Order: sequence, then structure tokens, then C-alpha cells
Amino acid sequence: MCFLRLSLAFLLVTLTSFLALAKKEPLVDVSALDKRWVMDIRYATTKNFTGKVLYPAARCLLLASVAKKLPKAQAYLDKHAKGMRLMFKDCYRPLSAQKKMWEIVKGTPKARYVANPKRGSIHNYGAAVDLTLANKMGHELDMGTPFLGKLTQAQVDNRRLLRRAMVHAGFKQLSIEWWHFDGIVWRALKGRSPKRRP
Ligand SMILES: [Zn+2]
Repeated sequence: MCFLRLSLAFLLVTLTSFLALAKKEPLVDVSALDKRWVMDIRYATTKNFTGKVLYPAARCLLLASVAKKLPKAQAYLDKHAKGMRLMFKDCYRPLSAQKKMWEIVKGTPKARYVANPKRGSIHNYGAAVDLTLANKMGHELDMGTPFLGKLTQAQVDNRRLLRRAMVHAGFKQLSIEWWHFDGIVWRALKGRSPKRRP
């Protein structure tokens, strides 16, 4: 009985320190991990669906534990589709940007693609990434239109390649968005707070 109590206490201490560590987990800039990667952070420009600049810098920041999975996706491409590389569109998203996006899409068909800031998005935690593929010249692959339309076989193959590389690296794809991948699932983020802008 005493042993059981001690074991439980130990488990509790371990769990508490794990959670404390998880909350402190830093955001890292993924561009340092592979020089071939292309940054196309549209929310740092006016070329996005809001027509407004929402980010101060065109950087892709992710939690360290999520970022470190990405080289595995690139290694998959190196092996199965030589010359292909990752092209980043959106990573950590400050809650302030989430609120601005929500105000713009609220009540429109695009609202299904933007999380209500009251609930938040996994992007606010630095745990999700929106990305596509680029060829060895750094040119974006044709994945078809983001929302509607019939796809060609080449577009289907390109989307499949991206999905295979990311799933191989341990990411989970969001079913309605071919470009969105979670590095940590929602329930594992319980107890954490959205990241503050670094
Ligand atoms: Zn996303």
C-alpha cells in the first residue's frame, strides 16, 4: 500500500514537471533546420485572403518538438522525390492575428477554415503548420485550388506526396485542408496556453 502511494506520488511529480516543461517549450525558427526550405509567409504581406498584413515578420516559428519532426519529412522527399522541398505558408499564429482573421471571415463560407479565437487554433500554440511543396528551383508545385474544383491527376499526386512525407514524419493532416498538418493533437495541448508573440 505504502509502495503504491509512493509510486503514485512519483507519477504525479513526473507528470507535473512534464507539464511545466511543455508550457515553457520555446518557439524555434524552422528556416535554420534546412537551407533548402522556402518561406512563403503570405500573412506577412497583403497577398492573402484578408488583403492585410497580419504578421510583423515572414518567419515560420513552431514549438521545438514540432519543428524537429520536419527534417524527417524532407528526408522522405529526398528518398522518394529527389529535388522536392518543403514550402512554408503559415506556422505559429499570434492570437491577435487569429482575431483579425475571424472578424474578416465571420458569416462567410470561409469561416469553416478559420478557428473562432474564443476556442483558438492549434496555430496559436505553434503546434500546426500550413505548407506545400516546391521543386528544386524553389517553384511551388500545382496542388489545385485550395477550396473547390476538380483536380488533375498531377495535382492529386502532388497532394499525396506532401501527405505521405508529413505523415511519415509524425504529423496528422486536417481532413478539410490538404495544406494543414498538426504536430501535436488538441487533447495533448490541454493545460497549455496559446504562445505569446516572441
Ligand atoms: Zn492551418
